[in-house]
Formats: sequence, C-alpha cells, structure tokens
Amino acid sequence: MTGDKVALSYLLLLALSLPPLSIYWEEISVMDERNTPMRTYQVCNVMEANQNNWLRTRHISREGAQRVYIEIKFTLRDCNSLPGVPGTCKETFNMYYYESNNANLWFIKESQYVKIDTIAADESFTQVDVGDRVMKLNTEVRDISNLSKKGFYLAFQDLGACIALVSVRVFYKKCPLTVLNLAQFPDTITGGDTALVEVHGMCVNASEEFEAPKMYCSADGGWLVPIGRCVCKPGFEENKDVCQPCRPGTYKASATDAYCTKCPPHSSSPQEQAVECVCEKSFYRAETDPRSMACTRPPSAPENPISTVNETCVTLEWSPPRDTGGRGDITYSLHCRKCSGDGRKCTPCGSSVHFVPRQFGLSSATVLVTDLQPDSNYSFTIESQNGVSDLSPTPRGTVVINVTTSQTVSVVLKERRSKDSVTLAWQGPERPNGAIVEYEVIYYEKNQREQNYTVLKTRSNMMTVDGLKPGTTYVFRVRARTDGGYGSYGGEIELETSHEGKGMNDKYFCAFLFRHCGYIKAKQDPDEEKMQFQHGRVKLPGSRTYIHPHTYEDPNQAVRDFAKEIDASNIRIERVIGAGEFGEVCSGRLRVQGKREIYVAIKSLKAGYSDKQRRDFLSEASIMGQFDHPNIIRLEGVVTRCKPVMIITEFMENGSLDTFLKKHDGQFTVIQLVGMLRGIASGMKYLSDMSYVHRDLAARNILVNSNLVCKVSDFGLSRVLEDDPEAAYTTRGGKIPIRWTAPEAIAYRKFTSASDVWSYGIVMWEVISYGERPYWEMSNQDVIKAIDEGYRLPAPMDCPVVLHQLMLDCWEKGRSDRPKFGQIVTILDKLIRNPASLREFVLCHIHTVTFGLDTPPPKLYCADPQNIIIFTFTFYT
Ligand code: AMP
Repeated sequence: MTGDKVALSYLLLLALSLPPLSIYWEEISVMDERNTPMRTYQVCNVMEANQNNWLRTRHISREGAQRVYIEIKFTLRDCNSLPGVPGTCKETFNMYYYESNNANLWFIKESQYVKIDTIAADESFTQVDVGDRVMKLNTEVRDISNLSKKGFYLAFQDLGACIALVSVRVFYKKCPLTVLNLAQFPDTITGGDTALVEVHGMCVNASEEFEAPKMYCSADGGWLVPIGRCVCKPGFEENKDVCQPCRPGTYKASATDAYCTKCPPHSSSPQEQAVECVCEKSFYRAETDPRSMACTRPPSAPENPISTVNETCVTLEWSPPRDTGGRGDITYSLHCRKCSGDGRKCTPCGSSVHFVPRQFGLSSATVLVTDLQPDSNYSFTIESQNGVSDLSPTPRGTVVINVTTSQTVSVVLKERRSKDSVTLAWQGPERPNGAIVEYEVIYYEKNQREQNYTVLKTRSNMMTVDGLKPGTTYVFRVRARTDGGYGSYGGEIELETSHEGKGMNDKYFCAFLFRHCGYIKAKQDPDEEKMQFQHGRVKLPGSRTYIHPHTYEDPNQAVRDFAKEIDASNIRIERVIGAGEFGEVCSGRLRVQGKREIYVAIKSLKAGYSDKQRRDFLSEASIMGQFDHPNIIRLEGVVTRCKPVMIITEFMENGSLDTFLKKHDGQFTVIQLVGMLRGIASGMKYLSDMSYVHRDLAARNILVNSNLVCKVSDFGLSRVLEDDPEAAYTTRGGKIPIRWTAPEAIAYRKFTSASDVWSYGIVMWEVISYGERPYWEMSNQDVIKAIDEGYRLPAPMDCPVVLHQLMLDCWEKGRSDRPKFGQIVTILDKLIRNPASLREFVLCHIHTVTFGLDTPPPKLYCADPQNIIIFTFTFYT
C-alpha cells in the first residue's frame, strides 16, 4: 500500500495572496522551460559581507498531521562561477520553522525559530533558464515531526548566497482508506516520531467481527501487518469486499461458512438472506442435525419379524424398515403384551419380563426376551424410530409378532432301577409349540454337574440309561425340542441306583414345573444318543472346542471316546457307491437292537494296511464323532474289533454335491440353491465355533441327502495331503487344492476359519454354476497369479447380484475383511425370507463365442467389464 501525500501549502501560490516578509529577497516572474510563467524568490547579495536575509511563509495549518514534509526546489549559484566575489560568498542557506496557534503573527524573533537544516545544492539538478542565465535546479526534502500546535511558519535564511527559490511544497503523508478482510480502515495520517499507527478496522455492512481487525499505518503511508478479520453474517456471503445476501434456494447458517450453499434435499429457502432452509411437508430436521443435512422423516415399520423360542426365552429378529427416512440413527423399541389363549384379551407384560440388551432404543434388529411364562401367548409390537420420529405427528411404524412359549416336559415320570441302569418314561407337553423332534435327557451324579454330565437324546418317550455306578444318586432332567426350539426342562429327579445284588424296583412320581434358560450341546445318535462331557472340557452353557486326535497319546482312545463301537453283525453291506482313499465306500443298512434299520454309508479299510493307515483312517471317525449338527455328516459308529475296519456314517442318497449338481444342471430354483448354501454355511459355522478348520471345503466334499440337505464331510487327517485329487503341491511342499484355497493358505499355510470362508465362496460359485470347475481350465499357476493380481471369478449365469457380492466378500484379500460364517448364515437367511432381493441379476457382458462343430456348446459366463473372459474354441472338421 502506498501512502497518499496531502499538500499543505505551495509557498509560491500562497505568496501571491500573502507575501512573506522579506528584506533583500525579491519576488520575480520568470518563464520555465515550457515557457510557463512562474514566480521565484531570489536573493544574491554576494558582493557584500554580513548578510542575514529572511524569507518567511504565512501560517501553514497542520491539519492534524504530526509530521510534515517540505520539498524545496531552488537554484544556487556556485561562488566560483561569479567573477570577483569576495570570500564571504556562501553556497548554502538555512531553513527554519516556528510552531504557533496564531495564524496572524506579524513578527517572529530569529531566536524563536527552530532550525530544520542547512540546505546546500546537491549533485542532481536540471537546468532552468532564469532570465538570461542557465541555472541548476535542486530538489531537497526535509521533514519536521512531533508538531502539536495548529500550524507553523517556515523561514529561509540567506547568509550571502545567490539563491532562487522556485517552489516550496509542504505536505503530510497518510495511509488511504482501504477494505481488507471485510474490515474498513479509514484514511489515517501517518505518525510523528513513532513509526507505526495502530488502526482498528470496522466490519463492513452485514459482516461481524471474527477476530478484531487491525492494521498499522507506517510512516511512509503504507498499511502493514493486517490482523483479524470480519466475516459475513449468516444469510450473507462475501463478494469483492462486501457481503451479499444469499439468493433464494441457498442459505448460509453460520458466519464462519464461506459461501451460501444450495438447500439440502427436501428443503427450500424462498426468500433471500436465508440462514437455513425450511423442510418440505412431512420432512423434519432434528435439533442436533446440522443445517447442511437433508430433511428426513420417520422410518417405515420393521419387517419380517421372526421368533425363536427357547424354553421361556424368545429371540426376536426382524429386518430393518424398507424406508429409513433418510437417516442412519434407527432404533427399535418393543412393547410386550400377554394374551389370553384365544388372543382376544391382552394386558401389558409388566416388569417381570426382561429384554436383553434392552427394551427401548435398540440399535440392532434383534432382542432376547427372558422370563416369560411357559405355555403362554405373547404379542410383541416392534416399533422403529429415528431422530425425527418425535417431530412427526403421524404414528410410528410398527410390526406385531405373536409368540407362544413352550411347555415343560412334565407330569409323570416312571422310574425303574437296577444296580447300573435306570429306565425313565415321561409325558410330553400337552400343547407343544410345534411337532416334537426329540427329547433330551441330561443326568449327572448328584453334586457333580459342573464336572461330569451326560446328555442323551431320544425320539421316544422312554429311555434306559445304563452304565451307571451302583448305589449312586443321579439327577435327571428331561426337555423336549420342537421345530420352534427347546422347551424348558422338567424338574430335577434324583434317583439312586440299587446296591450290588439288589433287584429292580418301579416307582411313579411327579416332576415339578421348572423354568430355565440355557442350552446344552450334545452328540447326536439316530434314536438315542449319548455323549459324555468330562473333566470340565465342556461348560454349561457354552460351546465346545474340537479336540484334535493327535492330542491323544493313544489314538485308539480318541476313537473310543468319540465313536461308538458297532457290532459288525448288525451291518448289511449292499452295494459299492464310491472309492475312498483307504478303500471302497458302500451303502448298506445298520440294525441296532430294538430299533428300526437305517441306511448307512460304510467306508472300509482295505486289507494290508499299515498301522499309520489304520490310525489315519480312524482319525476321520474320531473327528466326525465330535460333531453334532444337521449340516455335518453324522457318524453312526466304527467297527474296529474285527476286519475289515469300518466307519459307518449316515447315508446321503444324492452323493457328493458337485456330481449331483452337474446331473441336475439348471433344475433348481435360486431359493433351493440358496437353501443348500445356507445349510453348508450353517455346518461351517458350527465347525468354526468349535475351532475346527476344514481346509478342504469344496462341493466334492459336501454330501446331499434325499431332502436336498447338504452336509459337510471329509474330515480325515491326511485328506488334504493325499486324498483330494484337486490337491497340488505348492512351492512350500504342501499339497493344497489351489482353486479352493485362500491366498494366505497357499502362500504360507495360514489355514483359518477365514480361509474356510474363502473356500466357501468358491463352493457358492460351484453351486450357482451347477458344478462348473472354478477357473475352468486355467492352470493352477495362472489361478494363483490371477488372484494375486486381483482377479475374481465373475458371476455365473443367472446369479443374483447379492450372491455374487457375497462371493466377492468371501474372496477379500485381507482375511479379516471376509465375513464370518455366522454372518453368512444371517445374510442367507435374510435372502430366503425376502426372495425379492434375489431377483436382481448380474448384468452379462457376453463376448463372441465360437463353437467347435463337434464340441458341446459351452456355458456362457457373465464377465464384469474389468474381468472380461474370452472363450476360445477350436473348430473341428
Ligand atoms: P470319501 O472317501 O469320503 O471322499 O467318499 C468317496 C465317495 O463315496 C464320495 O464322493 C461319495 O460319492 C461317496 N460317499 C461317501 N460317504 C457317503 C455317504 N455318507 N453317503 C453317500 N455317499 C457317500
């Protein structure tokens, strides 16, 4: 910023109206170089000594300036250029000032003046004609500061020089009015001796101080060091140093926002200068919503509620509302009412019913309701709300679900005791909440429950528990399982086995109704099952951990612990159905005394086996025997006491999933396929919960029964290394089914449940493509390379988008980014409940395909634009 110079006086002009006092100074008119007349004051008494000639201005008003500048233009004759002048000739003159409030002083004493300077001619000058002479014109500037009176007089003292004063200009400097950072700084006269003047700015119209604006006016009239700023008030925005109102349709909520912005969705601002936009009808803005957020509305009702009853507890789950109202802060609240049998009269449940994690303000779409009464009807209203629900007058979105809690197994138990067995019989619930699937009997030695308990399952209403210690008191409890979940246990029944030598006795007694929440995992057996949970390895309630057979010093003990020995005479082999690593696989029947015959698969160990082969063969049984899940192949038992050694499992009528799908190409609905995948995921969830990593999950290792139920199989210890024809040797020496295996497992053998999830994604692809070979005929090396470079299998034909997305999620490079099996089950459940979501298919970009004349037409695959698959086929002639 450059300063403005403000003239206070031009001596010569003023001299016309108010001639200065002068003795020997003469006022002379001359022409300048452009022939313009001008007046000068001259003195040239060089021939005489003792000169003292004064020239004085009139009073010059200071006009508030503390420092004024005096610029003089003059000529001064060089004494040497004047012929015959005496030594008294001078080449300087003096300049003085006298400060005074009196503008009309006639006389000022010499001693009253303050000397400004002695002025001499300097080097720079131009030539000016003064009459008939050519003179050198000098310009000198001096300043006087700290002026405080109204004005001052200037005076020039000549002591015997030859001078012509051409002009005297008196001025002060100021910093000019300016606007910076929306603050206006006024015209400011520069300071006196203090170099800088601090100036506070005023915020321009429609602006306000953000930080006090100030600047410094420097001595030479420049603005320095701007500090602070003003900002446009809400509703205004800055435009070239002024604040302009926001245009309709825009708003500015805060002074600190730089510009007006467009109204967010579902809002408008019809007037100028808006500080916020007004929400459209039926849309709202919560108090804490930023003004920049779209106006939102309450959510629609939650959808697809489902209930799972477990005794007197019920888990309620639902899908989020279809319309979230545009917000992410959906919560749910539940209202519980207990209803009469016919459902007509309902009353609030009261405080005895508890909700986990809470009843109101739930953020996830599930809640556990506990402490319900058995055999009762309940109606739950699930309400969705969000941050603007309270602002809307319309009623909240709700959905109602009715639940009936299950009955306890109760009433009469019949007891028949011997020294090592007890026979129990019971009546089931009178009105079970679904068909009874099985009964579960739990028993333990009195006071030993935590250490040692046994769970038995049966489909009949009666059971003989044998292998008990004589003369020992046992506690028994029974509960029923229906399609809707587990019922409550009946009361505890204490029974003591008879002492050695004593006979049997019969007794009838009543069981008490007993409410209990919790669950027990147990091993399954077709009609009656038994599994011991010992040495605190299994706790109530909670999940079990798989025990690797290698942790047993004696592998035969593992077989004894986890597999039931079957008498070979009860097995009838019918036909060969496949070939396993250790020998044939046959189908046949198993007859257990007192029970109906069941179909089984029989794997036998071929003759001439080594000890190690026998161990490895049976390891599959001791692994399989630890599992009890509808989607895991069930072990019936083993034959180890005679040859051939056999493993007996449930029979899966449709054999392995890959061949089954190829055989039925295109014959299933998407829902059926998703149902199969759901089963596999559920089995895998069970295995991962037990910390069992499968390592060879593939469609060829899934078996399918006559109801299309898929079960995970192939648990042999050596299977990945030896058995699987898909396994290939890796650079690190292991044998791995490359196409099904996660990259980290191939690269450094990091096999985890997350690598099983990767394989599961491949199984999904196999299922949806009806048994197509993953990555077709690409070589294993190419598959590894392609995966590393980010390539993923494209969606098979007619693959719903959601399923391909789930596959891609399973194939995330980072194993922690992959979904867990539990999440996969939930996702698939939701898809099954809401089949509309399966109707969007992956868009196909099918490329030109050339068919060989005698090759079957190939299947076409969708390829996304990044992953274009080009099929090439050879012509045969
Ligand atoms: P594995 O040795 O377990 O791979 O079995 C070899 C083949 O036998 C499988 O591919 C199936 O076709 C058949 N298989 C094995 N177990 C069963 C079973 N439980 N039910 C029906 N078929 C089976």
